[in-house]
Amino acid sequence: MARFLVTGGAGYVGSHLVALLAAQGAEVVVFDSLRQGHRAAVPAGARLVVADLADAGALDATLADGPYDAVFHFAALSLVGESMAQPMRYLLDNAALGMRLIDACIRHGVPRFILSSTANLFGLPDSVPIAEDARIAPASPYGESKLMIERALFWADQLHGLRSACLRYFNAAGADPAGSLGEDHDPETHLIPLVIDAALGRRPPITVFGTDYPTLDGTCIRDYVHVTDLGHAHLCALRQLDRRSVTYNLGNGQGHSVREVIASVERVLGRPVPAVFGDRRAGDPPVLVASSERIKHEAGWSPQFADLDSIVGTAARWRVAHPSGYGSG
Ligand code: UDP
Repeated sequence: MARFLVTGGAGYVGSHLVALLAAQGAEVVVFDSLRQGHRAAVPAGARLVVADLADAGALDATLADGPYDAVFHFAALSLVGESMAQPMRYLLDNAALGMRLIDACIRHGVPRFILSSTANLFGLPDSVPIAEDARIAPASPYGESKLMIERALFWADQLHGLRSACLRYFNAAGADPAGSLGEDHDPETHLIPLVIDAALGRRPPITVFGTDYPTLDGTCIRDYVHVTDLGHAHLCALRQLDRRSVTYNLGNGQGHSVREVIASVERVLGRPVPAVFGDRRAGDPPVLVASSERIKHEAGWSPQFADLDSIVGTAARWRVAHPSGYGSG
């Protein structure tokens, strides 16, 4: 039976992958501090080790309990704005601890490593859609921290034979279509859950960050990709590692403006979204859209939730059913 270690497996994207691995009958160990993750997001069949990545003893003991066929590394701080305010915290927590994890994987003979990376490492792109070989220029310490881990993985492959997949997510969105998993951050800063909650009257009106961008309707354009499709991309990438290390950009190749997201939530929920128009948020590039041709072509990735309304629909169903997120039980 295949056996996997998933750091951050109780978090948003990690938990959706754990559900897919468990459904395939794999044995899954989740390593999560539960500072951002949720115990209720870990399926009954998976083992949960509640520990911080900084706890070298707990990490060593967990890896010694292997062997693992692969380690999936999701555990990280992931807010761009916060990283601009606390750069060294992000470099230490993400980059330094990520490198310690890689070192521990090498010592314990882990053969494959899959990294949650980010579109933020492209900064202000020269053109869109953004392919894997586009110019790298991180827009924030968050993006830089992921780039540092990508570079460490390059050398871990060259010099230790640790195969790796660096998966650069664009905007993860939506919720498990089966209804048991969803997006629950504290504080919530992401557009889609905030717009849904504004429509449901559970939060104040959504503030649109900037209406003077050089886009058709003046608001920022992002590539929203369904979290279950991201999970499947991890499985596709894992299969490639039998031959070589890979790097893939993950999005739908289609951009949607903030106004289009609001309109989608209005269609899906059948009610108006109260909105106010505010200033730009520091560090937001006007347009980020992925080219995911490489993973589709090489690894057969085929997203099932390519259109915005179906992504928003799964997110809305989960928010309606779980008004307090995982706290709803
Ligand atoms: N956004 C917004 N209001 C909010 C939160 C986000 O207008 O309250 C915009 C943000 O400027 C960006 C898009 O929505 O253009 C997606 O933001 P999110 O924080 O969800 O993801 P990011 O693109 O930062 O990874």
